[in-house]
Amino acid sequence: MEGHCGHARYVWNLAVEQQSWWNPRCGPAPSYHEQSRQLTEARRENPWLAAGSQTVQQQALRDFATAMASFFRGSHRRPSWRKRGRSAGFRIVAVKPTDVRVLNLRWSAGHRQVAFAAVPDPIPGTGTGTGTGTIVGVDRGVAVSAALSTGALLHCPGLRPGEQARLLRLQRRLARAKRGSNRRTRLKAQIGRVKAREVDRRKDWVEKTSTSLARRYDLIRVEDLRIGHMTRSARGTLAEPGRNMRQKAGLNRSILSHGWGLLVARLEQKAPGRVEKINPAWTSQTCNTCGTRDRQARESQAVFGCRACGQQANADVNAARNIALGHQWATTWVTARGGDANRRPANREPQHCTPPLPVDG
Ligand SMILES: [Zn+2]
Repeated sequence: MEGHCGHARYVWNLAVEQQSWWNPRCGPAPSYHEQSRQLTEARRENPWLAAGSQTVQQQALRDFATAMASFFRGSHRRPSWRKRGRSAGFRIVAVKPTDVRVLNLRWSAGHRQVAFAAVPDPIPGTGTGTGTGTIVGVDRGVAVSAALSTGALLHCPGLRPGEQARLLRLQRRLARAKRGSNRRTRLKAQIGRVKAREVDRRKDWVEKTSTSLARRYDLIRVEDLRIGHMTRSARGTLAEPGRNMRQKAGLNRSILSHGWGLLVARLEQKAPGRVEKINPAWTSQTCNTCGTRDRQARESQAVFGCRACGQQANADVNAARNIALGHQWATTWVTARGGDANRRPANREPQHCTPPLPVDG
C-alpha cells in the first residue's frame, strides 16, 4: 500500500509540475488521455515505475484531471504538491478477489481507510404520491446540528470533553517534538486516530439521519448552501445580522458546514428528485405563525419570541418551518409582503405541523 501511495504521489506531482510549466501560447494543456499516453512511455523507460501498478498511476492522473476541472469550475483550489506522509492515498479500479492478499496483520502507525465505491439504490419515500405527501424542512443549527420543522432537534456527536482535552494535549506535545523523530511520528499517529474518530462519528450520523429523512418524508426542503454562504455568513450582513456569530466563526463553522454539505449530498443521492433547496434569507428572523419579520424577535440564542403575535418557538425549529414552506416562502413573505404585519400567505400549506409517524422504530 505504501508503494502504491508513493507511485500515485509521484505521478500526481509530475502532473502538477507539467501544469505549472504550461504556457497558454503553446495550445491546450495536456489532457488526461495525453498524459496517460505519456505515462505509458515513461513506464517503458523507467523500470522502477513499470514495477508499480499501471492502474494506480493512471487513476492518479484521473484524480488530477478531476481536481483541475473542480479548480476551473471555481469550487476548489488549484491542485498542489503531495507530500510524503500527508494524506497519502491511491485509487484502484476493477479489483478482482484474487488481487486482495493479506500481507501483514501487524499495523504500523496510524489509521488506514479503504472505501468501496458502490452506488446504493434510492430509498422510496412514504410513497403516497397523491399530493398528500409529507414535507419536512431542515435547518442547520449550531447548538443543535439540524432542526426539523416537526420540532425535532438532531445532534451530531463530536468528540467528548475528555477526548478534546487529550487532543489538545497531544497537539501541544507535537509542537515540541523534534522533526523527523520517532516521537513525532508516534504523536502524529495518535492525533490522527482521535481526529478520525470524530470524522467517523459525524459520517455515521450523516448516514443514519439522511436515510431516516429519506424514508419518512416525501419532500425534504433544505437551505441552499451557496446562497446561505452569502446571506448567513458568520458576521451576517447589515440587513440580517448573523446568528450564533461566535459559534459559527472559525474552524468550528467550517466543520459544521462540511457536515451539512455532506448531509445534503447524501440526501440527494438517497432521495433523488425529492430534495428542494430553498433560499434561506430571512428564515431566522421571520415568525412562522404570522409572517412578521423582526430582527429583535430573538429572546435568546435558542428562543424565537414573536412580538407581533406572541408565538414562542425554538429559533432553529422556527427557521426550519419557514424552510418547509418552500419557494412560496420567498414569493409570499419576503418580497411581496404588504403593510399588514399579520397577513398570512394565502396558499400556506400546514403539512409540516403534523409530524408523520416514523416508518421504522
Ligand atoms: Zn408572529
